[in-house]
Amino acid sequence: MDASVKDVLFLSLKDVNARHADALKAAAARVIDSGRYILGEELIAFEHEFAAYCGVQHAIGVGNGLDALSLILRGYKELGAMKEGDEVIVPGHTFIASFLAITGNGLVAVPVEPDPLSFNIDPAVVEAAIGPRTRAIMAVHLYGQLADMATLSDIARRHRLLLIEDAAQAHGAMSDGRKAGTFGDAAAFSFFPGKNLGALGDGGAVVTDDPVLAARVAALRNYGSDVKYRHLFQGVNSRLDEMQAAMLRVKLQYLDEDVASRRLVARRYRDGIRHPYIRTPTVAREEQHAWHLFVVRCSRRDALQRHLQAQGVQTLVHYPVPPHRQPAYAAMRDIRLPLTERLHDEVLSLPMGPTLSDDDVARVIDACQTFGHAA
Ligand SMILES: *Cc1c(COP(=O)(O)O)cnc(C)c1O
Repeated sequence: MDASVKDVLFLSLKDVNARHADALKAAAARVIDSGRYILGEELIAFEHEFAAYCGVQHAIGVGNGLDALSLILRGYKELGAMKEGDEVIVPGHTFIASFLAITGNGLVAVPVEPDPLSFNIDPAVVEAAIGPRTRAIMAVHLYGQLADMATLSDIARRHRLLLIEDAAQAHGAMSDGRKAGTFGDAAAFSFFPGKNLGALGDGGAVVTDDPVLAARVAALRNYGSDVKYRHLFQGVNSRLDEMQAAMLRVKLQYLDEDVASRRLVARRYRDGIRHPYIRTPTVAREEQHAWHLFVVRCSRRDALQRHLQAQGVQTLVHYPVPPHRQPAYAAMRDIRLPLTERLHDEVLSLPMGPTLSDDDVARVIDACQTFGHAA
């Protein structure tokens, strides 16, 4: 390999934001000059713009994606829809934040196996996991692909359960003209810098059509206060600040364009990577996937990762150890989720993002194709 050729990075956030550097700097200057840094005009404007983008009535900006998930559950607890010890069904194959929001609220996470093709929560096993204390299903649109929301909505309706979307990876994914975040009772988004819509720091939002939940979450994120110094609930401090709201207003304008670029990269990977040991993702319909991550499956994952690194291609594993096998969840030690555990050993995320060049994509494909054949 020619040492002067730069590695294909997994994701260059510098490149992602450099495209909008002038607009971002102007927005930052606007916030600095405004003298208002928390709960101001930028947040109100972003909340309206993001709600309109998703196609929902309410968006509430919060500190991060974990808090968005957590405040949804906390809001429902305050509304009497669930109480400590109640169960929430969650996919075992997810980022740990999905679990932390549940257990952090004194609720019980009931992890279930994924669908073997989409890697998303499997509605058939959800139905089997419903018990007398089940109050909600948390669907995670993993890697950016919508979970089977039609079937999950039907199950939730029949069993009178809340349906909550962890849409932290799925900004811009669509089905039948509806966007991620509009299928459940409420949804959580993350604006962590590496997400499809990323701030230049932490950020998150709750979206919902339910005005009562929206008001509850808006109060909870601000010390449980609706009017200054009147505290209805024992809330938290988790607000999307003016600076991040201003950054996100700039970047929201390019979200659909960025998702389209991700889809092109995914299309080229899926056409170009044809290897007996590397399985590319299965996609029901193109629009349902916002391609936050492009995850292949390989039984010799670690060898593939080393091979790609040697070829100058950076990859990551999402995720190496499932939540129920983490030290933090030692109490779940006896839970067996064989498919989830196997996926964690076999998944590998290839470089993905809106700024990958055609040349980068070709190099990733070539590097995959030479796996197992190279010296
Ligand atoms: C990123 C992520 C979160 C948490 O978002 P933060 O903003 O990092 O707190 C939650 N769920 C999933 C599936 C995620 O990918």
